[in-house]
Formats: sequence, structure tokens, C-alpha cells
Amino acid sequence: MKPLFLLRAAALVISPVAANITELPDDLPCGVAFSVRNSTRNLLAALRDPTIDPGALGAADVFGSNAGPGPKPWLRGSNLLVTIPYCYREPYERASLAWRVEEAIKIWENALGGQASKDTGHAVVFKETTDQGRPLYCYDLGASNRFKWNDDIPYETVSVEAVSSPVFIASATIGFLSDPQQPEPWEMFMRVGHFASSVDVAHELGHVLGMAHEHQRLDRDKYVKYNCSNLRDYYRRLHDATAMDPSITPDKLCNDFYTALRYAFTGTQFIRGTSPGAWSRGWPVHSASDAYDYDSIMHYATQGASRIGCAANQLDKCALTKYKNGPGRPWEVMPIPRNTVPSGEDLSWVRNVYPWKE
Ligand SMILES: [Zn+2]
Repeated sequence: MKPLFLLRAAALVISPVAANITELPDDLPCGVAFSVRNSTRNLLAALRDPTIDPGALGAADVFGSNAGPGPKPWLRGSNLLVTIPYCYREPYERASLAWRVEEAIKIWENALGGQASKDTGHAVVFKETTDQGRPLYCYDLGASNRFKWNDDIPYETVSVEAVSSPVFIASATIGFLSDPQQPEPWEMFMRVGHFASSVDVAHELGHVLGMAHEHQRLDRDKYVKYNCSNLRDYYRRLHDATAMDPSITPDKLCNDFYTALRYAFTGTQFIRGTSPGAWSRGWPVHSASDAYDYDSIMHYATQGASRIGCAANQLDKCALTKYKNGPGRPWEVMPIPRNTVPSGEDLSWVRNVYPWKE
């Protein structure tokens, strides 16, 4: 195996935008607001290397600037539709994922009242890449290098990938992230774990459309009570982090995106107002109105990532709950249910960002 590895490494050095890509870590957070260009992939890998100081990498700068201009809405085609193309990397991934992906597209379509049309008021079409009705895969299956992008597919296509890790649910990039000046393959992805349901995939499609987590809004502390130390993996990650770097505090693990990302802490998905660089460049943390939307399919449920012991009568052991009467009365909280369909606000958002035009 070793010579093969060396060969790949050598190819990477010669041609950084070649077919070779660094495989993404399995435990990426849900909702990734940076394009996964080759430079970012290498950085993600480096971030996990305990001998490297993330500060020294200039991580924030790399994600914020070199990695592209940040999420944008998908573009309208000459047919006036907003087509979001996706490809499965290879046949076995299609076999394992297509049913759930198609169900998830139906969840959005049914909620919107049907396909793109004047009546439904939206122009979105999720479309698998095909050639005369047959699927086209993101991988060039005929190439000797199995990681080569299929040149019959535009780079601005979402790569749909199966992840077999037992703890991973799903993850996706947010919105349209390709840089039209310098497009690269593999920039946008939707990764789906073994145990993800079609509802989980529908949540990821929300990210692909451009939506962020509702509970990461800047003003969320007025509406929800977040207790980072009640996240399922908090003590394990804090232990790992401080073993590696004694200067890491609970506050840093909970509130610093790069620290959380480095130690694969689920807290990355709860940090207020923050996703790397991109959001601070003006991509709004979503919402069709100022109203906080507990019903959004992009809102996490109380049960989701909370530690064992979190229950309807044990809400003090939960990571995320809803204030009954605002943050002034923090002991009065209620559970947030799991939303299985897009909310009215989610649908307004889609119709506002991608309105039907003729
Ligand atoms: Zn998410």
C-alpha cells in the first residue's frame, strides 16, 4: 500500500487541483459554510494534527478568504429555473442513498405544494446528473484513479456521499459555494450516514439551499437556553482537548469554532452566529422574518445531541431547550420537538430567495 500512497502524494504536489482529493473527515459538523476546495481539505486534515497550532495555520483567514467568497444563493438558469444539480460519487452510494434523497426532495416539494411553478411560487429543481436517463456519477468510473472527477459533469454540482461511520448522521455545505472565476471539483457536498433518515436528509437539503441552523442565529439566546456542557460528547472532548493542550478552557471548547472543530466536538453546531468566515461576510443566518422559528426544519431538537438523562422531566440535563418566558426566567423551559417538515418560515425563505419567474 505504501508505494501507492507515495504516488498519490507526489501527484498532489505536482498538480494541486488535480483529480486527487483529501478525503474529508467523517465527523464534519452539520452545515458547512465554506467551500471544500483542495486548500480547505488539506487544512481540515492539518487541523486534526495535534502537533500543529491552529492559530499558526491562520485558519480563519484561509476559510474566510482563500476558500472562496462564501455561500451564495444558487443561480437561475436560462430556463428561469434554479436547478441544483447533484451526483452520487459511484453506483453503490446511489444504491444506498437514492431512496432517502428522493424522499427528502419530496418532503420539500410536498411542503411547497409541488414542483417549481407559478402556483407553488418557487423555482427550485433538485436534479440528479444524468446522460440519456442514466445516472452520471461524480467519479470518473473509467479512470485509473478512482478519485477523478467526471468531466461530463460541471464542477458546480453537489457531490452526494455515503459515510459508514456509526456515529455520523449527515452534513452538507451551505448554499452555492463555487467560485465562478476558479471553479474546482468537489467544492459542495452532502454526506449522508448509515442511520440518517429522509428527514435528516431534508435538513441537509435546507443547507444545500443556503439555510443555516436557526438555533445558531445571533439572537438565539433570547429564545433558547443552550447548555454546552450537556452535549453528549462534552466531557469526552474536553478531556481529549485538555490532555492535548492544557490551556484549553471549557469556554474555548464551547465558543471557539476552530477549537471545537479540531476536537470534533458537536458544539460546532451550536456556536452562536458563527460558522467559519463566510457568515460574517454578510450571508444572513437565515430567516424570512425577525420571528424566531422554533418550527424550522433547520432547528435542532432538545433530544438531538443532549447527554443521557435529558428528558421531559429532566430538562436541566438537556443541551437545548426553549424559554417559556424569556431568558429572565431561565428555570422555565420546555423541550423543543423534532421538526419533520419545513416550517412556514422555511417555505417563505425558499420562495423569497428562489421565487418563480416567467
Ligand atoms: Zn445542519
